[in-house]
Amino acid sequence: MSAYAHLAERYGTPLYVYDLDRVEAAREALKAALPEAVDLFYAVKANPHAEVAAAVRGADRTRAEISSTGELAVAIEAGFAAADCLYTGPGKTTGELDVAIGRGVRTFSAESPGDLRRIGRVADRHGVVVDCLLRVNSAAAKATTSSIRMTGAPSQFGLDSETLPDVLPELTRVPGTRLAGAHFFPLSSAADEESLIAEFQHTIGLAARLHEDLGLPLRLLDIGGGFSVPYATPGPRARYDKLRSELESALDTSFPRWRDGEPRIACESGRYLVGDGGTLLCGVVNVKESRQRRFVVLDAGINTFGGLSGLGRLLPAKISTAAEPVQVASLVGPLCTPGDVLARDVPLPDLAPGDVLEIPNAGAYGPSASLLAFLGRPAPAEVVVRGDEVLSVSRLDYRRVYGPAT
Ligand SMILES: *Cc1c(COP(=O)(O)O)cnc(C)c1O
Repeated sequence: MSAYAHLAERYGTPLYVYDLDRVEAAREALKAALPEAVDLFYAVKANPHAEVAAAVRGADRTRAEISSTGELAVAIEAGFAAADCLYTGPGKTTGELDVAIGRGVRTFSAESPGDLRRIGRVADRHGVVVDCLLRVNSAAAKATTSSIRMTGAPSQFGLDSETLPDVLPELTRVPGTRLAGAHFFPLSSAADEESLIAEFQHTIGLAARLHEDLGLPLRLLDIGGGFSVPYATPGPRARYDKLRSELESALDTSFPRWRDGEPRIACESGRYLVGDGGTLLCGVVNVKESRQRRFVVLDAGINTFGGLSGLGRLLPAKISTAAEPVQVASLVGPLCTPGDVLARDVPLPDLAPGDVLEIPNAGAYGPSASLLAFLGRPAPAEVVVRGDEVLSVSRLDYRRVYGPAT
């Protein structure tokens, strides 16, 4: 039985519950795992609910990593200053740069020479000079197995480290921009502390070489993230007991004055900060057999919990019930597409229509990473709580997220 069953009864399913106490606990755990002088950027895409983002912000050391004008609006609503936002993404348009710079964003990650020039043109038009970090795609391909690698291969993200010497002189002279440092985000969801530490050591060493050998200006060094929490499956957040001291010694070696802010060091995280604070409750609508296979049809599918549906990734969705698993069945959603599968052939307890299932660790990449508008079902309700206290209930209206086209 779910601890949130009474909320499911009151607000219906599918229902997301976000507990701000747990979000704050995750933030404190991550801060404690990092050296004190390291800034933390919250990747708003992990959960753009404004109250959740505000809970992440809490302490003054947390800033926002955003990648659209929609995320900028969320960040500002959540209390982040525009000046504290880092604006990233490979496809920033002139129109959105205009809005971002107009609202006061002054730090951008430039993902290509063309991106940098476009940022500069818009900044110039506003009569300002903005700080740009060069996002670097390291040539070294590290063998990490169980994480999502973002660099080392051809990519729309960042500048290839091996050709940086050729393009850097030109990049230091782009009107409207001032090169302020480097941005790395080589992996997401690192399974173990060793590979995370190895990646950070590699990044710090590479940044130091770019600074010393090529003269890349380095006031801010964003070394990325990769902090891990189970996704839609039970289990605790990863623990990083050695990270702090390993990072300190790598930084001491490469940047003897980093403790004085030369350069300032930053990390980024989305899922770790919000993943375990969220729970998805779904209702069983139907149970059916087809050719010796059992299907449990839920009222939540890839329209509610898409698990980044575009990636075609099947969720490892496991459910929490007191009952022992007695059957193997697939968890499917209500949509008219065979792609609406949350989990295939997983052990489940005996289930009947009306039962409520609880998917734990569902606070990151939930509604906003789902096919919200597909088949026109209402978005799930989102309830924000602190322990037993309900703070707010809301529901995304996808037709209003960006308003009418003008
Ligand atoms: C998505 C993203 C993040 C957050 O990733 P998590 O795995 O959720 O921590 C951070 N930085 C950048 C640049 C990203 O694109």
